Amino acid sequence: MIVIKTEQELEIMREAAKVTAYILDEMMDTIIRPGITTAAIDRLVEAEIRKYHMIPGFKGYGGFPASICASVNDTIVHGIPSSRKLVEGDIISIDTGTIYKGYYSDAARTYPVGEISEENEKLIRITRESFFKGIEYAKEGNRLGDISHAVQVHAESNGFSVVKEFVGHGIGSNMHEDPQIPNYGPAGRGPRLAKNMVLAIEPMINAGSDDCVVLDDDWTTKTVDGKCSAHYENTVIITDGEPEILTLLK
Ligand code: MG
Repeated sequence: MIVIKTEQELEIMREAAKVTAYILDEMMDTIIRPGITTAAIDRLVEAEIRKYHMIPGFKGYGGFPASICASVNDTIVHGIPSSRKLVEGDIISIDTGTIYKGYYSDAARTYPVGEISEENEKLIRITRESFFKGIEYAKEGNRLGDISHAVQVHAESNGFSVVKEFVGHGIGSNMHEDPQIPNYGPAGRGPRLAKNMVLAIEPMINAGSDDCVVLDDDWTTKTVDGKCSAHYENTVIITDGEPEILTLLK
């Protein structure tokens, strides 16, 4: 069942999302650099969330041990922060979120660490663009598949592949609510979008094949071919006009 949010719920979700937006679109610019460990990034993010009297949405969720997913290079999603230091040329996806008054926010970006390859620059750019291509269709009356299809077309027409095993989702008083939002599939299918649905739309795009493998820690998900992967996600309110992107500063 897709939950339509009340205005009061949307107000809380906007607040929850502001901190996530700040972390990803401002704070990370000053933090991500060669030499920092992903565990250190996690500690800084958790402290920032708690500063606003919010709760890290990921910590303890399904047993996940940290406040961010830190997914470096060939890790697609759900990388666990560790003592690994970032090095020049890495790309790192940070996925994080907050809980405020019982409501979640959820967003992700992929960042360059220093100078990166042209291919990885393109991968990050196209992944972000595919989100924006998708949300051109995120409007009351359209079908969910319209979003999915637009994401897939943009990623594949640029020579990349779309991860199939993980999908976006509705979000609210649970991090993962209906509907599931694949980043692939035909247009014109799936549930009809309605005003005040809140969706976490999140293309996960691979430079090589879409095959992925989950490691023995039951979280870390990598590409099978060892090529890089990028992730871009925002929490979005469906309206009868332009979608309202809650977790975006820039
Ligand atoms: Mg998500």
